[in-house]
Amino acid sequence: MKTNFLIVGQGLAGTLLTHELLKSGKSVQVIDSSTFQKASVVAAGLINPVVFRRLTKSWLVDELFPQLEETYRELELLLGREIFHPLKIRKVFGLGEADFWKKKAVANGLSSYLNAEPDFSHYGQLRMEYGSGWVEKAGRVDLKSLLDGFREYLIENNRLRTMDFEYDRLLVHQDRISYGEQEADRIIFCEGHRASQNPYFQQIQFKHTKGEVFGLETTDYNADFILNKSFFMMPTGGRQFRMGATYDWNNLNEQPTPEARRELCAKLEQVFTGDYKISRHQAGIRPTTHDRRPVMGMSAEHPRIGIFNGLGSKGCMLGPYFARQFVARLNNPASPIHPEVDLRRY
Ligand SMILES: Cc1cc2nc3c(=O)[nH]c(=O)nc-3n(C[C@H](O)[C@H](O)[C@H](O)COP(=O)(O)OP(=O)(O)OC[C@H]3O[C@@H](n4cnc5c(N)ncnc54)[C@H](O)[C@@H]3O)c2cc1C
Repeated sequence: MKTNFLIVGQGLAGTLLTHELLKSGKSVQVIDSSTFQKASVVAAGLINPVVFRRLTKSWLVDELFPQLEETYRELELLLGREIFHPLKIRKVFGLGEADFWKKKAVANGLSSYLNAEPDFSHYGQLRMEYGSGWVEKAGRVDLKSLLDGFREYLIENNRLRTMDFEYDRLLVHQDRISYGEQEADRIIFCEGHRASQNPYFQQIQFKHTKGEVFGLETTDYNADFILNKSFFMMPTGGRQFRMGATYDWNNLNEQPTPEARRELCAKLEQVFTGDYKISRHQAGIRPTTHDRRPVMGMSAEHPRIGIFNGLGSKGCMLGPYFARQFVARLNNPASPIHPEVDLRRY
């Protein structure tokens, strides 16, 4: 029972890291809980390269985008499932926003992601009196398909143990770590928000964020674009949509609330005038750091113990790029990792 890596957690972070490790020829065992909730299955899977408030590019997007397309396509081939769906975003403008869009799109070099020309055309069941703008390069990651598919793949290859990891059973030796009968050269924790309780990484300043989302069913609205105006409404097939999301830094639990339900419905109904039914209401906790950057690296005190976490609200964009960067570092200590995500910043 000896492997190169033991990974704790099979959310998006653990899945992407395991995939990159296996690709690089390493042996991996994964431990994942069947009782803890995954932020990754609550997440909508939205990929948006633009920060709308300032109309700038999202952090590192020119590097992240090619990497995410490559990784999700690779996983589609490996798992025989559809995972990445390119979609456009239609941003509904408020008063004066059309001019801002036109000006900033050019000034901020966004032409490869969006159309700088405002669109004043109408679309049934949407209120857009001040026009709208199109983000041409965006999309959705079907996280359920990815996580279920990868789980099956791990099971088929005898690489998954379903259990809750207990820190006090981890033994750190000179040349390896052991956990029960399992031995590994190194262990990497990908536990999502539960990393706050990890005794090996108490120096990390987490600032997790609770979020709530809906699954919606409409009567006769079936737009094939992602609607956005301080919320998103994203098609997932037929007349099914995911809609969200809320941000709450204080009540860090996984319970859906009537307050969030009211907030989301009010936002939606400012723009969407059609009939809809809420088919699902879910809550989850985005694993987020104080500076909203991912965090990765090996512990200075225990160099066989590492972490890959902090994917925050943009895990689908950040995950593929940083999983690959981390694996390059794990395989070659001289390989650089971005200073803003380095564990050593704590
Ligand atoms: C409401 C909401 C909406 C979101 N929308 C988007 C979006 O549209 N686009 C986007 O990119 N991101 C979105 N996110 C963020 C995204 O969910 C995260 O960035 C990402 O899923 C984090 O993945 P993770 O693997 O770090 O954590 P998780 O998915 O939480 O996975 C952690 C895993 O570790 C396991 N684990 C933890 N402790 C143990 C233990 N002791 N033993 C065994 N297993 C353990 C858990 O069971 C779980 O499987 C959203 C999040 C929320 C909550």
